[in-house]
Amino acid sequence: MTARRAILIELPKDRCNVDYIKRLMALTNLAYRDYEVWMPDLPRTIQHQLYGFKNYMESLVFGTTPKRWSTRTWIPLSTLRIYGDGSMKGNRSALVVLDFRGSVIRLRQVCKNEPRYVVELPMPEWVIERVKEGGDIKFARIGLKDGEPYLALVAERVVGPYQPSNYMLVIDINAWNHGIAWSLIKDGIIIKWKPEIPNLREVDNLYNLSVRLSKEYGELKRLGFEKTEEGKRLRKKIRKLRKRLYTKLRDYAQKLVYRLVRKALRHKALVIIDNMIEESRKELLEEKIPSGLRKLYLMYTRRFVKLLITQLEWYGVPYRLRRLPSAVCPVCEHELTQEDGRVMVCTNCGFKAPRDMVPMYWAMKLFEAMKSNLNIKDSFTSV
Ligand SMILES: [Zn+2]
Repeated sequence: MTARRAILIELPKDRCNVDYIKRLMALTNLAYRDYEVWMPDLPRTIQHQLYGFKNYMESLVFGTTPKRWSTRTWIPLSTLRIYGDGSMKGNRSALVVLDFRGSVIRLRQVCKNEPRYVVELPMPEWVIERVKEGGDIKFARIGLKDGEPYLALVAERVVGPYQPSNYMLVIDINAWNHGIAWSLIKDGIIIKWKPEIPNLREVDNLYNLSVRLSKEYGELKRLGFEKTEEGKRLRKKIRKLRKRLYTKLRDYAQKLVYRLVRKALRHKALVIIDNMIEESRKELLEEKIPSGLRKLYLMYTRRFVKLLITQLEWYGVPYRLRRLPSAVCPVCEHELTQEDGRVMVCTNCGFKAPRDMVPMYWAMKLFEAMKSNLNIKDSFTSV
């Protein structure tokens, strides 16, 4: 199985011509639609690459099929890798050069339409780590995200999933306001259980402040004062606040994924992911969280799951997505009633547990079912 991971790198704005990148994106969009348009004033090398990539239409390199008439298609580019010993891999005329000797990435003519125009970037630690793990970066993409130029690098690695041990790592995903809970199960017994909740007060504060300032800005705009010093200052402040908020949520998700994947690797565990987005959405609605914040929490929950799966695949950790209910009794399957403090109680058999713990009981049940069904181990390795 080929596993892939990608990274986004912000390009220096002052060294990139955004309009030029926009044109290249529009051209890519046309190439996608099977039109071959040769622009006389654009470098032939880029255009050659573009039409060469048509063979990879459905691949990750080209990204998802762009919407009709949308011109937001990122430009796919092949890469040349130059290693420490001087050996080379890839396309010699590639416009993206990963030079491990000088630890730099050179972008030729993709940032500005000028002959021999080169932008040099420091080699990200991410690239070095992926290469150390046996990965290779054959493709890159360039494009605009919120109007800012970015380079995306795609690492590939061939992996086979390992045979899981007698450990199971169960990850119960709520929504970001309740965080996630994980447990390590050995031979059907929970040996560790831990809820992980981000610092919500800080997130809430940042969100509320950004909403308040946005309202103020809206007021200024209504009066036609958005172009004043005051308006500009406010806009800048809002942008900064939002960036801080997104960074906070993203960093939290990334660090948590990293820790969980390490844990799974250390124990050679089989990972069970309970992906209960819709139920969490309902839960969030009940708690009357502002809709903007609700959307944000859901977005980062989905992102967390995506990140988790990408990394599990990258390291060859076998995993399964399972629904592990938190409102159904794991003993008698009767519906559970929620008491104060998120405690779940079964009125039928007397089962009682914290809400986030219920899925772990279901996971243990799953483990028992697996044990009694001897060939289950094999079926679990083929994800
Ligand atoms: Zn029960």
